[in-house]
Amino acid sequence: MLPDKDGPGGGGGQSYPEGEHPSVSLFRDYLRLRTVHPEPDYDAALRFLDRIAEELDLPIKKIEVCPGRVVSIMTWEGTKPSLKSVLLNSHTDVVPVYQEHWKYDAFSAFKDAEGNIYGRGSQDMKCVTIQYIEAVRRLKAEGWKPTRTLHLMYVPDEEVGGHKGMETFVLHPEFRNLNIGFSLDEGLANPGEAFTVFYGERNPWWITVHCPGSPGHGSRFVENTAAEKLRHVINCFMDFREKEKHRLNTSECFTLGDVTTVNMTMVKGGVAYNVIPAEMDVSFDLRIPPTVNLQEFEKQIKQWCKEAGEDVTYDFAQKHMNQNITSTEESDPWWSAFTAACKSLNMTLEKEIFPAATDSRFIRAVGIPAIGFSPMNRTPILLHDHNEYLNERVFLRGISVYERLIPALTSVSALPGEA
Ligand SMILES: [Zn+2]
Repeated sequence: MLPDKDGPGGGGGQSYPEGEHPSVSLFRDYLRLRTVHPEPDYDAALRFLDRIAEELDLPIKKIEVCPGRVVSIMTWEGTKPSLKSVLLNSHTDVVPVYQEHWKYDAFSAFKDAEGNIYGRGSQDMKCVTIQYIEAVRRLKAEGWKPTRTLHLMYVPDEEVGGHKGMETFVLHPEFRNLNIGFSLDEGLANPGEAFTVFYGERNPWWITVHCPGSPGHGSRFVENTAAEKLRHVINCFMDFREKEKHRLNTSECFTLGDVTTVNMTMVKGGVAYNVIPAEMDVSFDLRIPPTVNLQEFEKQIKQWCKEAGEDVTYDFAQKHMNQNITSTEESDPWWSAFTAACKSLNMTLEKEIFPAATDSRFIRAVGIPAIGFSPMNRTPILLHDHNEYLNERVFLRGISVYERLIPALTSVSALPGEA
């Protein structure tokens, strides 16, 4: 557990209006901005960030990577700006809500008597955005200066795949100019005492298998039907699904990120009760950990299709092949700086592969190490869920965590090949 110096009303005996810590008030202000899909109010977010940049006295750069999709970057130049920089990334958008399932308005940032702050984005990831900002504010107030340059980046569109945000921006010359050596991005809450740290992600594969067959009248035993092939394909994928589920449930050290998940998500085919169709299709959502040999895995899929019968083919709507993972070797200078800072705060870390996808995959794909980390322990995982909340004490401790992490990471000494 972290020192409790930042409890409500804490911070050196100062008292705040209504007893609320100003960082908590700022967090609640930000939660009230409706940056929610399908029509996120990105202008409100940009105005908010302009205000912050002015308060922090940091230059802010805005790059419109796609029409209406602006990436903002605040830069705190280091005393050795030729060294590679450190990136603190966060996304400004949030997923939609089903308001009828919420106890409070999802955009009112209601705080209950226990200090739980309810709001869409309270965990994913408006908390982290404000924690970065407040840690920088404190470090500036202390007169501290970074050695390596620090960038705070705010991206749109993460929640709809990042295609018009980070995926495009990593290929932009302005991104290359940032000269990033290491990046932090979002992680997940941990219900226990420990904090979860993500060093890789699973690759999503969205596949449709096409099963053509002989058509005919529904009163006969037609040979070579689409349905027979479809059944075989479904059985293969579902048997594999059971095996993976079993592997997850019988190994103590496995988490969801260590196994392949398989879900049948769409089935198409047929026109009438008495007509045997000429084709039936089935689609699957697969999430494959970086430990799997992707070429071998695709061979397996090809084999299942071949066994299913004549002319069974497949195609991909999405097929990610990047298996870069970020080093968690003790000898790695970034990882060792990160873990040493956490250790100095008596934090326990649990290393995992992220079960879903975040913008970190695009950062890792261009060769930059990225750690997914949202400092939320003692917190149920409620991202994208109804009644998403974060306790204000957990939120405030997170600021102290970054107050330690930023100096640790920006002080990593020059690496081989650096000026
Ligand atoms: Zn997120």
